Amino acid sequence: MRRFQAVFVFLMVLAGLTVVLIAHPANAQDASSNVFVLVEPSEQIQEGRSALLRVQILDGSHPKEVQATFLGRVIYLYPSVDGDWIGFLGIDMDAPTGTQSVEIFYTADDGSQQTFRKDIEIMWGAFLYQDIPLPYNLEPLLDLDINRQEVETLVRVMNRTTPEKFFTDFINPVRDIEISEFGGIRNYNNGVYEGRHTGTDYLATTGDPVAASADGRVIFTERLPIHGNHIMIDHGWGILTAYSHLSEIQVVPGQLVRQGQIIGLVGATGRVQGSHLHFEVMVNGVWVDPPQFLTLNVPASLPNP
Ligand SMILES: [Zn+2]
Repeated sequence: MRRFQAVFVFLMVLAGLTVVLIAHPANAQDASSNVFVLVEPSEQIQEGRSALLRVQILDGSHPKEVQATFLGRVIYLYPSVDGDWIGFLGIDMDAPTGTQSVEIFYTADDGSQQTFRKDIEIMWGAFLYQDIPLPYNLEPLLDLDINRQEVETLVRVMNRTTPEKFFTDFINPVRDIEISEFGGIRNYNNGVYEGRHTGTDYLATTGDPVAASADGRVIFTERLPIHGNHIMIDHGWGILTAYSHLSEIQVVPGQLVRQGQIIGLVGATGRVQGSHLHFEVMVNGVWVDPPQFLTLNVPASLPNP
């Protein structure tokens, strides 16, 4: 009797496996193709969050290039050691909710091209509303032109994608607790100015060391009216990090830094009420939620040729 039960269970497991194996090609955009497009950890992504775009090529072919476009932006994909091609999807905090398509362009060795489409679902970001009372002496920093100019400066620097990959993974730049989350809709001084929070704030003391989140190249060090002393690091593959309100900047543009290297000291420069670290992550030109980005399971890449 026991043996009959064991055989029965075995057959059920086998049947289940068969269903899973047959169901797998549903991921393909073209049933005749051996190219699969996956979005990790989920095809449902909230505004202001990020995801991995993974292109699996199961027919043994070696593409020359894989690129994607998403919401009008180009996403470069890079070969990883597991044989897949990996890119990053960054969802703007103001992205339209609903279904959006990622177009993937696959160029084979012989120059032939295939196009695939992957639909993702953008969900509401559930951002917080915050009332921020600023002291009188800082009120000039709520000026619309100052804010617009600073955003324009940052966006100009952010709109870059370096095809070299410097990082292996990312760490928090300080060990302190989070005090203000990403994406908050901030109302300053009862409606004088409304802005979005482009990073995550960590409670820290002036003079505390700030570590580079990952290997990369310093691309920007300036004192800005709102972000204060600000450092931006390009980690390659369209990923940048930034560190604001520093009391001291200890790196220069063009410098290569290693993960964990001290790049500056926590401070209270710019539009702040007290010392803290404001940490930003940018994915293909848009600000995303830093703690959520740090949870992505990024596969190692093939070494640079
Ligand atoms: Zn902040």
